[in-house]
Amino acid sequence: MPQKYKYKGREKEYHRERRKKYRIEHREEYNAKSREYRKRRIKKDLTFKEKLREWNKKGRENFRIKHPNYMKEYYEKHGKKYYEKNKTKKIEQRRKWRNALRMQIIELLGGKCSNPNCPVPPEKMDVRCLQIDHVYGGGTKEIKKMNRDNYMKMIFQKIKSGSKDYQLLCAYCNWLKELDKRQNNR
Ligand SMILES: [Zn+2]
Repeated sequence: MPQKYKYKGREKEYHRERRKKYRIEHREEYNAKSREYRKRRIKKDLTFKEKLREWNKKGRENFRIKHPNYMKEYYEKHGKKYYEKNKTKKIEQRRKWRNALRMQIIELLGGKCSNPNCPVPPEKMDVRCLQIDHVYGGGTKEIKKMNRDNYMKMIFQKIKSGSKDYQLLCAYCNWLKELDKRQNNR
């Protein structure tokens, strides 16, 4: 009996299964094609990126609801080995990404300490001593609402769209600012 008749009255399900099978069998090709498609759509329609993000988020949530024990079962099946192996790789990738993002923010903010009375000459400043400072304070409050990576991402987006809420201060000037603030609050 052809498979199609097994799905009589459930044609929608039949086609869904077919598409799924195709996706699995032609994974590489399918992924490449959808990557191309997404790129083209984003070029044409800037809001598409946001929409994609929303869809992906919803998809993840739905998956979690449908398969609440997925991760647990996955570990039971594959053991922790795969996870551990990937973990070091993932951590390294994250570190690189974080550093690149930080450098981009520093570049956007001018790459030097914003204090005009900074005692460290700009040419002697080590980039590792530059800190991103919220001009009007409130950075610690903001950071409590999300994780650090998302916070940095948010700052980057804000600065890119013209926000003047952030500046660079070297560790020395940043600490002086903090001490002054504490003294004024007393
Ligand atoms: Zn300084």
